[in-house]
Amino acid sequence: MSPEDFRSSGHQVVDMIADYLRDIRDLPVLPDVQPGELIDALPAAGPEKGESMDAILADFRKLIVPGITHWNHPRFFAYFSISASGPGILGEMLAAALNVNHMLWKTSPAATELEQVTLGWLRQWLGLPDNFFGIIHDTASTGSLHAILAARELAAPEVRLTGEHPPLTLYASEHAHSSIDRGALAAGIGLENVRHVPSDDEFRMRPDALAAMIEADLAAGRKPFCVVATAGTTSTTSVDHVEDIGVIARRYKLWFHIDAAYAGSAALLEEHRHILDGAAQADSLVMNPHKWLFTPVDLSILYTRRPDVMRRMLSLEEAPPYLQAAEQDRAVNLADYSLALGRRFRSLKLWFVLRYFGREGIAKILRGHMAMARNLARQIAGDSRFEVAAPVVFSLVCFRYRGSDEENRNLLGRINAGGRAFLSGTTLHGKFVLRLAIGNVATSEDDVRQTWEWIRSSVLPATGSPAAEPLNPL
Ligand SMILES: *Cc1c(COP(=O)(O)O)cnc(C)c1O
Repeated sequence: MSPEDFRSSGHQVVDMIADYLRDIRDLPVLPDVQPGELIDALPAAGPEKGESMDAILADFRKLIVPGITHWNHPRFFAYFSISASGPGILGEMLAAALNVNHMLWKTSPAATELEQVTLGWLRQWLGLPDNFFGIIHDTASTGSLHAILAARELAAPEVRLTGEHPPLTLYASEHAHSSIDRGALAAGIGLENVRHVPSDDEFRMRPDALAAMIEADLAAGRKPFCVVATAGTTSTTSVDHVEDIGVIARRYKLWFHIDAAYAGSAALLEEHRHILDGAAQADSLVMNPHKWLFTPVDLSILYTRRPDVMRRMLSLEEAPPYLQAAEQDRAVNLADYSLALGRRFRSLKLWFVLRYFGREGIAKILRGHMAMARNLARQIAGDSRFEVAAPVVFSLVCFRYRGSDEENRNLLGRINAGGRAFLSGTTLHGKFVLRLAIGNVATSEDDVRQTWEWIRSSVLPATGSPAAEPLNPL
């Protein structure tokens, strides 16, 4: 592709992106497609001869976009809503153009150092200590796997050479994310050795139950090695008692990992900083700028007080000759600290985001999201047909229609089938509840208000006939 051709197609693509961001509310959040539809619409074999960029872009519009679930839609309220903000998209474009791989410092000094600088800025904003080393991974799942591997290395260093270890046990709340179980699985801990600690009425891990489980395992001859606290659980965004869990971790000499994938961002705000009280004692912590910090997927941060252990757990007896590089004082070779050798230049988009919004700008948007969530919860509480199902800690509202699980599942199905908003569900205290997570940079009060009206009008009257106020198709 000649630079001239690139320029003209590039301008077209930038225009498409700008139009997309401007008009996204006109698109259905969820696509109306059947499994296999795109596969059937595309040729079974790749083209022998190259095609024009115009033809490719036309098919992108015609075939790809209609099958997309629009995570960047301001009324995407399912799971945790996320944002590819303008500066984030621009950073991603430039990172693709530079296409560096900073596995070693010398394979891209600026990419290596910008990663340290951006993570250093965030570390200060989160109130984490200076001795926390930060590294970017693709996802929190990968970051937590590295934390569990480091915990295993510390508890059973023989595992590196022999692959064998005593019966190690790991502890996390019953509301911890599935990535913790899967990390333990991948680290060879065994699912039977993962303890799901019961939680209190507000879905927070009970420290007394944690201590009791550790004692029981010790008495049975097992070796507790790691405890994971969650700051912002996936179902309800409840925050475990980080400080108390840290005290127990130290008492039993366990690796202490904090999963703050979603709510870590909230700690940028003075009034929420306390959720990470006690985090200075943690051995590691994950948080996801690709969740609630306006950074396009993917970018997750793993901070650790013990980079030496991360490095040791992945070190070979002898590095292959093509990767031998001296680690000088300030020349960090990031691949030494991660299973992945190759590294995308992810920090560039984060740097763009942090500079474009600034800490105050970010705080203002996050506070706005939380105000919208509290406001919605008030309206839900004011409608006798509904109830709020969990405390609204940040920007997620869990609620349910006062009816059966089936009625709630059907209600969710009707809301999502309308295409105007996308919510998800979870189970709390054995009951199915709806989740509405606010977190997209473009979400407005109006988006939330309209969605609440659609939810209310999606309730079927007692007779079972459709609601009086019909749903307008898009
Ligand atoms: C979303 C989430 C994860 C998983 O994040 P990925 O980056 O998709 O792996 C882990 N833990 C919590 C608490 C989450 O909310």
